[in-house]
Amino acid sequence: MHIKEHHQNMRLGIISALHEEQAGLVEAMERPSRLIHGMREYFLGQLWEIDAVCVLSRIGKVAAAMTATTLVEKFGVTHILFTGVAGAGDNTVRVGDIVIAESLVQHDMDASPLFPRFEVPLIGRSHFQPNLELSMRLLGAAHDFLELDFPEAIRNEDRHDFGLEQPRVHRGLIASGDQFVNDRQRLQALNGALPGLVAVEMEGAAVAQVCHELDVPFAVIRAISDNANENAAHDFMRFVKSVAAQYAFYITRRLCRDLQQSPPQPRTESADT
Ligand code: SAH
Repeated sequence: MHIKEHHQNMRLGIISALHEEQAGLVEAMERPSRLIHGMREYFLGQLWEIDAVCVLSRIGKVAAAMTATTLVEKFGVTHILFTGVAGAGDNTVRVGDIVIAESLVQHDMDASPLFPRFEVPLIGRSHFQPNLELSMRLLGAAHDFLELDFPEAIRNEDRHDFGLEQPRVHRGLIASGDQFVNDRQRLQALNGALPGLVAVEMEGAAVAQVCHELDVPFAVIRAISDNANENAAHDFMRFVKSVAAQYAFYITRRLCRDLQQSPPQPRTESADT
């Protein structure tokens, strides 16, 4: 496989856990080619003139870490975007809202008393920060999606069914773990232990650790599918079936067009916080 010179060599890896979180993107790709590696299908092509590789990681931290590593090491991506759904991490965050990671933590990492709770042993950190520029562009894409695309993207009946009247965008802490959180008390405990928590999911912080170790800029965006409580499984299924793909498609399209119009700044130490 050769790596094409394109847009200052940018090649965007786009990961989702589940098919429904990314449906439509592969179809939107120009001249896609499909490559199977490590039990996953990687689709390479141009997305709105951005060189891109789309892949489904499947669920959980190991699956996500494996996928992110492969994207970088085998497919030469220079940036990674994770797009998917998540449970609300706080009661100010509602189903249909959009969350962009300001920081990510593995909530089930606990090697205490040898290391502080949540700290990834021998790395000396618990929280991983996405690339600021990519996250800011996503923030813009998410706001524009809600303001400009929403009526076209989301059917009226879905809007009513899910109560998507005035979805908002939040930037904050996302916690990932190998657990589907569907218990109010568990969520409250996590929320109490992790100040600024906005969402819980199962992959983001694993991608974050890989990107930190490989020094690859990344960003994570999640549509809130459920409240991580007793109704989570039911709400999650419905949301993923009917609206998750629309969020991902429209926001990714806006992001790619933005990147195409003004390619990201060459990386410097200070730009990558
Ligand atoms: N029962 C589902 C499993 C979904 S796991 C199935 O059979 O397919 C939930 C997926 O959505 C994960 O990829 C995770 O990142 C995200 N997610 C959504 N809501 C979540 C929650 N409340 N807790 C953890 N992850 C959640």
